[in-house]
Amino acid sequence: MDVTRRLGDMGFTAIRRRTSGGKCKPHFSLSFKAGGNDITFGIDTTRLSRSDDQYFLITHAHTDHYGKSAMLSKRSIASDKTAMALELRHDLRFEGMRFSVGEALDVEGVEVKTYHTYHSIGSTAFYWENEVGVRALVTGDIKDHKDLPKCDLLVMEATYGNPGDLSCIFKDDYDAFEAALGERHVGFGAYSFGKAQRAVSLIREMGDERPIEMDRSALMLTRHLLGDEAGEIGRLGEFDGGLCITSPWSLDRLPYGMKKYVLTGQHYYDHPCICISDHTDFNGLRELVEQVDPKFVIVYHPEMGNSVNFAKFLNQNGREACTLADLSPVRQTTL
Ligand SMILES: [Zn+2]
Repeated sequence: MDVTRRLGDMGFTAIRRRTSGGKCKPHFSLSFKAGGNDITFGIDTTRLSRSDDQYFLITHAHTDHYGKSAMLSKRSIASDKTAMALELRHDLRFEGMRFSVGEALDVEGVEVKTYHTYHSIGSTAFYWENEVGVRALVTGDIKDHKDLPKCDLLVMEATYGNPGDLSCIFKDDYDAFEAALGERHVGFGAYSFGKAQRAVSLIREMGDERPIEMDRSALMLTRHLLGDEAGEIGRLGEFDGGLCITSPWSLDRLPYGMKKYVLTGQHYYDHPCICISDHTDFNGLRELVEQVDPKFVIVYHPEMGNSVNFAKFLNQNGREACTLADLSPVRQTTL
């Protein structure tokens, strides 16, 4: 399959930018025509330099989606919550355009629609049409695809995209989480951005109103991103130690007598795990593709690994798909 030609027929050019050192910049960019203009959207990529004048779609604030670099461009585009999370995490000012997820934006006359993906607070899927009416959808990371619209070109993640790996099939274990909340003293290991806020929201949804102690970073992000919805939260040691959230690798520092669990969809921790994931599993990815019904799929994240497995699965099942390795890199030495 000639990917460049296939995308060209749809009115898109996908480019991986390469520096003079020869290394590819993260993820990729999509160029297209709209209203007579040539427009380029960087997809979760970094700025090459100050003169890099593409637009930067930032799907969410996890570091492996590179908002830290893109947020410094006036042409970056991120949801209000993603922009806030980036500012808090990196102590930098977000210079770009903000929107509230669900709103449509005007980018040089192109209407860009935005959708929730329920992955982390503020996480966004972007949708637009080019001059020839071909519809593109960029998902970022996905927890739930229910809101996503039909498209022609789908740019998606596939963190759990390996059909041959049983650990790519899972369901969130809310029963185990609720049972753990029944403990008098319980600590949860959760990443400070994303998982920690999911844990606090779940605890409140399950009707547990106890104060929650959190490590510094999780507390700061949760206060700003969840606001009053978080209920009573404070620093580790501030209350009676009944309910704590800290990073998975500092669970050991919580008191000895406390029950400890890592909230994760993965299995490589020392403590017992409760399956609470920020991602959809393989079945969810498959259903997502069925729902949005694309003519062509670029599996763009992770850059290696399961993307290859998922693209292969799609190709074997009658959906044309490729990974970033199939896109032609362009050397950019002038920027
Ligand atoms: Zn993510």
